[in-house]
Amino acid sequence: MRIFKFGGASVKDAEGVENVYDVLQKVGYDDVLLVVSAMGKTTNALEVVVKRYFEKSPELSNAIREVKEYHLAIMMDLFEGTNNMVFNAVNKHFSDLEHFLVINKSPNYNFVYDQIVSMGEILSTTILSHYFSYKGINNEWVDVRNLIKTDQTYRDAVVDWEQTQEIISKTIKRNTLNITQGFIGSDENYFTTTLGREGSDYTAAIFAYCTNAESVTIWKDVPGVLNADPRYFKDTTLLNQISYREAIELAFYGASVIHPKTLQPLQRKEIPLYVKSFINPLLPGTKVSKGADLEPQTSCFIVKKDQLLLSLSSIDFSFIMEDNISEIFGLLSNYKIKVSLIQNTAISFTICVEDKFEKFQELNAILSKKFKVTYTEGVSLYTIRHFTEAAVHAVEAGKNVLVKQMSKETMQLVTL
Ligand code: ADP
Ligand code: ASP
Ligand code: MG
Repeated sequence: MRIFKFGGASVKDAEGVENVYDVLQKVGYDDVLLVVSAMGKTTNALEVVVKRYFEKSPELSNAIREVKEYHLAIMMDLFEGTNNMVFNAVNKHFSDLEHFLVINKSPNYNFVYDQIVSMGEILSTTILSHYFSYKGINNEWVDVRNLIKTDQTYRDAVVDWEQTQEIISKTIKRNTLNITQGFIGSDENYFTTTLGREGSDYTAAIFAYCTNAESVTIWKDVPGVLNADPRYFKDTTLLNQISYREAIELAFYGASVIHPKTLQPLQRKEIPLYVKSFINPLLPGTKVSKGADLEPQTSCFIVKKDQLLLSLSSIDFSFIMEDNISEIFGLLSNYKIKVSLIQNTAISFTICVEDKFEKFQELNAILSKKFKVTYTEGVSLYTIRHFTEAAVHAVEAGKNVLVKQMSKETMQLVTL
């Protein structure tokens, strides 16, 4: 079985959906499982719905209407007339969503978030599945919430591999085109959970692992993995092949082309990962596999914007030692604040962090009782893998460098 993942950018409009159909015609779709994300920026739009719901805002119904109209417009472009069953199916999903909002009593933001935001993937896969049937491709719409089982960490759920493996190997049909949702799963009570933003790549890896797939392909709006994000760097080079290890490093430091959790399950079973262009599906793209040399040998640049540089020092000039550091990390983990650079001296400790869940001020209140805390918001973290002097100069030019750290393969700079 081959696993294909199509992200939000690939299905952002009717043309995108038609293009997915064209890609399948070109590369084949027997024994394929398609993992699909929400269309375009739907997940962000649904996050607004959650916010309006908790604010008890009169704008709630407008926020829902916006998501609905966006999907209806795509469907009107894809299907002739409005007789197709897809219209009933999509309307039913929206009435389920509205019903949930009426009956819900849970004050748990993250729980409600998952029940609402997951709708993006349910809608996109419903539309794709009906569209393929309409074009004469038989396919199975698979509700991933019956297959991927997780704990109850809403918005950042942890997969129960044993159960998931057992269910997937029993239920996934071979020799057909399966269409399922990225990003979502369910807990033991079958309430929806989500695997973290941008988590659809990870879903593809879960299916690959559990089906012993031949390969995973993630289809992108770029030719493959480049040596830098083309949104921030002018001249980029396509990496023809990289090792799992290199890909994990790039993804960990923030190369958003691959979700960092994706690589580990694939590496464990040595399942190759291809990153290819959905615009030119027959080009080779990038192959990620075991021990492959970086080809071509070149410096790779990763930038993470909107980071926070946090420095803690002891109030009484005492050392910052193992016990303080373990306490600080315990708190960071509880508040789900991700650390991407660490530097410490005898009496101070500096970290560059990402505050995804907007918890920093709560954490700051606790830390400030024990340490002198200073922080700078809105910094950028540059990571250069396989750096050269010229590469470092290019990044430094015109920037205020706050921290610089070097190891054998990697240079990191925090800049303002
Ligand atoms: P998806 O629609 O699958 O979620 P994303 O938009 O998340 O796709 O990922 C594709 C984008 O990742 C590209 O358009 C590009 O801007 C960005 N990107 C960041 N780093 C890299 C890199 N090293 N190589 C290629 N693309 C990158
Ligand atoms: N739709 C989800 C998100 O936007 C998951 C994904 O696209 O991978 O975060
Ligand atoms: Mg994405």
